[in-house]
Amino acid sequence: MRTLIVSDIHSNIVALNAVFESAEEYDPVERVICLGDTMGYGPAPMECLEALWERHAVSIQGNHDAAAAGTMSTEHFNVYAAAAAEWTTAQLSGEATEYLAGLPDQLIDESFLLVHGSPKDPLWDYVFTYDHVIEAWARTERSDILVGHTHLQFSSEAGLGIERPGPDGLNIPLGDRRTLTNPGSVGQPRDGDPRAAYAIYDDESRMVKLYRAWYDISATQRAMADAGLPEPLISRLSLGK
Ligand code: ZN
Repeated sequence: MRTLIVSDIHSNIVALNAVFESAEEYDPVERVICLGDTMGYGPAPMECLEALWERHAVSIQGNHDAAAAGTMSTEHFNVYAAAAAEWTTAQLSGEATEYLAGLPDQLIDESFLLVHGSPKDPLWDYVFTYDHVIEAWARTERSDILVGHTHLQFSSEAGLGIERPGPDGLNIPLGDRRTLTNPGSVGQPRDGDPRAAYAIYDDESRMVKLYRAWYDISATQRAMADAGLPEPLISRLSLGK
């Protein structure tokens, strides 16, 4: 069974659709896992939620989801993120607000611990370094962890440090060593590569693979300008920063 793993979609429906298309180009995806921050920054919050609902995605809560649902204050957000959060809240249906507010902050499935930030602080802590990875492993019995939040696509295997994907992506085998993987951000990558990022887990080969997909960045940028979202959030999409 192939599981699509996405994170930090940030209301970018054009990027999300490109990821679905890319992930299913050769083989079907039977399951979707979302690691939070479906909301914030981008122009299409409801469309992104509906696309996940349609695919019965298993999702956890990110800090931007909590802010959009009004269960977390935006006082720790920068001015652009806070403005986008306020705009997002106004777009949501009652059902969407309730759904976002009720998302769990961590989940354990058959294969992974799912958490947006880290097991130390599910909504806010960032896993950037190998020391952070070791700390995350120490807080769970699960051998393999999936995180989002940093918008950086990488994986880590015990003893091997942080591994970043090359031009052909990256394959991470599960089983021998503990792993922690960040699929990267669908809707606002920050690792210098503007393409949408995602991962696929195949439970037969027990392999996690990291991928990128091109999407129509200018279409999302136009929709953001039409919605009156802050300019720095628009221009950064071209840079992947
Ligand atoms: Zn995010």
